[in-house]
Amino acid sequence: MAEAKRDYYEVLGVPRTATDADLKKAYRVLAKKYHPDTNQGNPEAEAKFKEASEAYAVLSDAEKRKQYDQFGHAAFEQGGGGGAGGFDFSGFDFGGDIFGDIFGDLFGGGRRSQANYNGPMKGANIHTTLRITFEEAVFGCEKEIEITSKDECETCHGTGAKPGTEPETCSRCGGKGQVVFTQQSMFGMVRNVQACPDCGGTGKIIKEKCPKCYGTGFTSSRKKIQVTVPAGIDNGQTLRVSGKGEEGTKGGGRGDLLVQVIVSSHPKFNRQDNNIYTEEYISFVTAALGGTIRIKTVDGEVEYEVKAGTQTDTRIRLRGKGVPYLRNKQTRGDHYVTLIVQVPERLNKEQREALQAFDDAMKGIKPDGDKPKKKGIFK
Ligand SMILES: [Zn+2]
Ligand SMILES: [Zn+2]
Repeated sequence: MAEAKRDYYEVLGVPRTATDADLKKAYRVLAKKYHPDTNQGNPEAEAKFKEASEAYAVLSDAEKRKQYDQFGHAAFEQGGGGGAGGFDFSGFDFGGDIFGDIFGDLFGGGRRSQANYNGPMKGANIHTTLRITFEEAVFGCEKEIEITSKDECETCHGTGAKPGTEPETCSRCGGKGQVVFTQQSMFGMVRNVQACPDCGGTGKIIKEKCPKCYGTGFTSSRKKIQVTVPAGIDNGQTLRVSGKGEEGTKGGGRGDLLVQVIVSSHPKFNRQDNNIYTEEYISFVTAALGGTIRIKTVDGEVEYEVKAGTQTDTRIRLRGKGVPYLRNKQTRGDHYVTLIVQVPERLNKEQREALQAFDDAMKGIKPDGDKPKKKGIFK
């Protein structure tokens, strides 16, 4: 039997160096020529069609082509139950992955996405938002989120059928979930693969629906999910909690939970990337004479020595008092403080006299002569 098998390259009429495009082109020609729809009642054409399809299925798959190049037909004959061995061509699935796009453009319609109703599908992602405080974003936090989640129905275990009954295989599509419509058109026979209208593409018909999930196979419930918000997260960033989305079908796995983080603004702290910016007011006396002030940081208050002769708008840097980097918690940005010198708006008599005395003491010094040189914004 194996001996009667023709070389796949020979079948498609291409050299062994053929590119994927060459293979596809060659197969298209043969598929069109020998397609069962245009050769009804011609077993020879059907055999040729199957032969070409098999050759194309192997050679269009890089891995299988490699095996074939090395071992020939033997590559697929070990351990198989005869015929094409590890390959099952018995039930030709025209809408399948390999052929879907070819038949799609060959015969019009029948897009691949429609062809896979029956397979495992990953569950949908659930999107939600989470509001946290400025400090929670800086240092990270644990939060509990409540979501509505789709789960496999416990009563019917996802089949959608009433317990004690079974979903029946759809007779219209034979359980494939898709049907092929063949139509005569001015270009010849047109073939369309579509989701089966009877079973909606599932391949199964539920006669008696599960009373709990009404035949959907899913139930919805509110669920609490613990989310770890990493230190350094910024407003608008999204956290992915994998496997906490909706249930997939046929073992396709759950989707993910995507949590967009909204960070509330802070009355004092402004954040830009990993740096924090604030302003501190100091008295004009402290600015002139120097002195110790207390500055509020996200780590609490710190003491800072203001130098004598500090000008307004002087910016100081508190190293490492900013926001941790998401990828490296040990590294933090800086906290920049703009010092604003306050001039008193109201003075009592005593204060006014004191200032007057100060002014008198300054007499004889040229107004600009003793003026401290303006320092840069960055100290
Ligand atoms: Zn159910
Ligand atoms: Zn069906």
